[in-house]
Amino acid sequence: MKLTVVGCAGSFPGPDSAASCYLVQADDAAGRTWNVVLDLGSGAFGPLQRLCDPSDIDAIGLTHLHPDHVADVCGLYVYLKYRPSDPCRPARRTPMPVHGPFGTASRLGDMYGLEPGESLTEHLAVHPWQPGRPVRVGPMTLVPVAVEHPVPAYGVRVHGPSHDDPARTVTIAYSGDTDACVGLDELATGADLLVAEAAFVEGRDDAVRGIHLTGRRAGQAAATGGARRLVLTHIPAWNERDVARAEAREVYSGPIDSARPGLVVVL
Ligand SMILES: [Zn+2]
Ligand SMILES: [Zn+2]
Repeated sequence: MKLTVVGCAGSFPGPDSAASCYLVQADDAAGRTWNVVLDLGSGAFGPLQRLCDPSDIDAIGLTHLHPDHVADVCGLYVYLKYRPSDPCRPARRTPMPVHGPFGTASRLGDMYGLEPGESLTEHLAVHPWQPGRPVRVGPMTLVPVAVEHPVPAYGVRVHGPSHDDPARTVTIAYSGDTDACVGLDELATGADLLVAEAAFVEGRDDAVRGIHLTGRRAGQAAATGGARRLVLTHIPAWNERDVARAEAREVYSGPIDSARPGLVVVL
C-alpha cells in the first residue's frame, strides 16, 4: 500500500497545504491500482488531481462532516457531473462510493445546493459507516472505528497488501479528528502506520477535552497501540510546526514524521 498526503492543514487550508485529504493506493493481483481517498477537505480537490484522475477514485471515506474534511466533495461532484465527454476517457459508468457518518448524503446535498429534483445519487453512492463493519475496495479493506469529537466521527483502519510482499497484509490507521479515547487506541493497535491528528498544543489547549489530540496524546496512542510509525497531521496554520513532534517524541520512541503535502509512505 502507498499513502500520499494530499492535504494536511488542520481545521482550514493553510498557506502551504489544503485541509485533510489522503490518497491510499494498492495494486491487486492483476496489477490494477485501486484508489481510496480518505477525507476531501477544503482545498484538497485541486492537488488531488495531480495524483490521480478523479474518475478513477474507487471509494471515498469521510471521517466526519466538518468542512475541513468534506468541503471539496462539492468540487468532485461538479467534475463527475459536468466533465465533457471524451472518447479517450469515457465517463464513469457507476456512482462513486462515498462512506461517511449517518447524514452524509443530506449534508453533501445542502453544501452543494441541489436544485429541486436534482439528486446526488446519480454520481455519488453514499453509504453510512457501520462501526467495525469492513468495507472492501479491491485489495483493501476499510474498517471504521468510532472516535471522540463534537460531531459523530470515525477513524479508519485500512488493511491491504504490502508493497514489497503482497502476500503480507499491512495496516494504515487514520485518526480523523479525535481526542484520546478507546477508539483511538483500537485504531492504533498493531498499525504499521498511524496517521494521527495533533491540532492541540500542550500547555495551551490540553485542558479542552473531547475535540483534538495534542502531539503528546498522539504519541501516547502510538506507544500504547504499538504502532510502528507515526505521522502527525492536521496541524493548524497558527501552530508552530515542530511542537507536536517534540511532544510526541517524549512518549513514543518509533519513527515520527510531520505530514506535508506530497509526503509518500510506502508500506
Ligand atoms: Zn478537522
Ligand atoms: Zn473536526
